[in-house]
Amino acid sequence: MKYKIAVLPGDGIGPEVMKQAVKVLDKISSKSGVSFELSYADIGGIAIDNHGEALPQSTIKVCEQSDAILFGSVGGPKWESLPPDMQPERAALLPIRKHFNLFANLRKATIYEALVSNSSLKEEVIAGGFDLMMIRELTGGIYFGQPKSIERRGGERVGLDTMIYKESEIRRIAHTAFKIASKRGKKLTSIDKANVLSTMVFWREIVTDVAKDYPEIEFNSMYVDNAAMQLVRNPKQFDTLLAGNLFGDILSDEMAMITGSLGMLPSASLAEGKFGLYEPIGGSAPDIAGQNVANPIAQIMSAAMMLKYSFDMEDAAADIEKSVNKALADGLRTRDIASAGKKETILSTDEIGSEIAKRI
Ligand code: NAD
Repeated sequence: MKYKIAVLPGDGIGPEVMKQAVKVLDKISSKSGVSFELSYADIGGIAIDNHGEALPQSTIKVCEQSDAILFGSVGGPKWESLPPDMQPERAALLPIRKHFNLFANLRKATIYEALVSNSSLKEEVIAGGFDLMMIRELTGGIYFGQPKSIERRGGERVGLDTMIYKESEIRRIAHTAFKIASKRGKKLTSIDKANVLSTMVFWREIVTDVAKDYPEIEFNSMYVDNAAMQLVRNPKQFDTLLAGNLFGDILSDEMAMITGSLGMLPSASLAEGKFGLYEPIGGSAPDIAGQNVANPIAQIMSAAMMLKYSFDMEDAAADIEKSVNKALADGLRTRDIASAGKKETILSTDEIGSEIAKRI
């Protein structure tokens, strides 16, 4: 068995943490006999430097010839002064999602047992840990809606974006969310702002209609402002959440924060079928890039998600998760997840990557 993986490390800490994910894939390959053919390509700032654009055709081609994309992160101060349309995130990440029709973004927020005390929430609120999944619509909504501009109106400048959802887009993501919820805690909360936005009145109507196909799922809708509060008050009331592009973006960062570290959480962006792009939730962390201190766990867990969702290698994905848990239980930490006064060993990016691979 052989799978082709497009490896796009990107900018900042991307290349450092990607190296650790590749180490882990090598270990999985030698244990399982499945081989991974890795094709590296530039994306983001490094692609601007080397090819004059953030998402070169050559990179798209490498991705098209692969079974999945393993993505690092893009962006950094060096490219921040470019015009908005040329900036790495906008000119690489959004178009690649669009090109491959990656409409469903899965973000898991798990409290690792060894890290309960790292959460910003009180231990009594999260005792026993929790495991949430956000399903975010990724290719529509206000991030892509037209018109979108900064222009002159009535004698002054205005900035405008358009929030728009087609019925087919809402139905497609709702079905995905209900199917994922049925394999988890059989509970789905749809997030909207139906008290103010017409788009969201429509969203609620369609999701509620799709819910009729899944009578076994406990379903409710919640306003986004309430959801933001409930996530910090009592996250354990949720299991799977469904949201549009904008609200899903914001709430999934909140979910990431309450677990303790941005550097721990992976995400998947799926197309219909098996193809997907897998990447850490965090950005390129330019403040710590090149120092060999970044936490590679999100990148490693992104590789695990790729094995599970694109290659059906569920056992291998579970092995990776177990080895991460084991390393944490053994007191191994990177700087960002260290807690003062605890018996822990602080390791570099490279060292913790090797320790995790060793435990597989
Ligand atoms: P960020 O996620 O890069 O960093 C926020 C904070 O979290 C920083 O203090 C950083 O050091 C820390 N952090 C993030 N990942 C970490 C890890 N693996 N280990 C340890 N600490 C980690 O967000 P930002 O500072 O808002 O953005 C920095 C750059 O990343 C910007 O150019 C932004 O546009 C880009 N960005 C890219 C993506 C992406 O590629 N998907 C996502 C978000 C931001």
